[in-house]
This record gives sequence, structure tokens and C-alpha cells, in this order.
Amino acid sequence: MFGVGSPHADLMFVGEAPGFHEDKQGFPFVGQAGKLLDRLLGGIGLQRSEVYIANVLKCRPPGNRDPQPDEIEACESHLFRQIELIEPTVVATLGNFATKLLSGKPAGITRVHGVEQETTLGGNHVKLYPLYHPAAALYTPAMLKVLEEDFARLPAILGPASPAPTVAEPAHEPAALVAEPAVQLGLF
Ligand code: URA
Repeated sequence: MFGVGSPHADLMFVGEAPGFHEDKQGFPFVGQAGKLLDRLLGGIGLQRSEVYIANVLKCRPPGNRDPQPDEIEACESHLFRQIELIEPTVVATLGNFATKLLSGKPAGITRVHGVEQETTLGGNHVKLYPLYHPAAALYTPAMLKVLEEDFARLPAILGPASPAPTVAEPAHEPAALVAEPAVQLGLF
């Protein structure tokens, strides 16, 4: 499973790995965690079609277990190439795996969430913004509150260049599910 969203996005989210529903449908964050992500995006005036969403792993780990180091290593060049091509200004990492991989540091999400870090990813200067994983926040109200608060800071981190919320795409073309063809992005 690859990624979805605008290839011109200023804001890119990086999750952990596809789950059952993502694996079946071929799009990231289409299950309960994805519904929460959509709601959080709506809260800051953005639609899924205006951002880009990818994962550290491109395949579902059996039984939804944690990604293994060799799996992360096998997939990371694809993620870095996605960042290189999309050129986001802000990369919001969702949860520990994306945060540790892209920050290059061992500090966990509990310590680093909600604080942007300047870094270089895929050759681009970006602001890395670690967030709690929506799946974790689904069942922990205190974590959800923190995630909402951290999300509310995203427009300021994106800065004035952040795109104004646009009118929805035509109904016949469900923008939320339009995947950028891998070939067009030159990823495979
Ligand atoms: N959790 C993730 O990290 N990624 C998905 O695509 C879905 C759930």
C-alpha cells in the first residue's frame, strides 16, 4: 500500500503501517484511526485531498504486529523518495515508529510530541512535527485531548503559505480516495 493525497501538499503525514482495512482497500488510514485523522484535519480546515498521507511500512505486518527493523530498512527508501518528490514543508509523524525513523533519534513520542524540529528529509528542509498516533488516541481520552491540542498548532507551523481550505472536489471524483499513480510520481 502506497500513499494518498496531493502531490503538491505542504503537509505530509507519516503513519506506521497499513492495517487490515488499508491492506484490503489499498489506501492509508481508511479505518477508525483514519476517520479520526479526517476529523482532526477538518478541525483545522483541511481535507484529506489537500495533504499527503504515507506510512513507514508499505505492507501490513502480519497480525498488525510492530514493524521489525529489517522491514523498516526495506521500506525507508520509498518513504524518503516520497518526501523528496512531494516536497512538503511540514512532515507530521504519527506515533513512535515514524517519529524515531524520521527524527533519527531514539526519543519516544511521549517526550517529543507537539514540538517541531527543523531537519532535512529526502534532501528537503522540513519541519518535523511529531504527533500521537490517532489509533492510540482512539481509546485514551487524555491522549486524544493532547492530539487535538497539538493538531491545533499545525496551521501556525505551516505558516502563512499554508493553502486556504478549498471547495470540495466534484462529487463524481472522490478526492479522498484518489491515489497518486506511483508511476507518475516515479516511485517504482
Ligand atoms: N495506522 C497506520 O499507521 N497507518 C495506516 O495507514 C492505518 C493505520
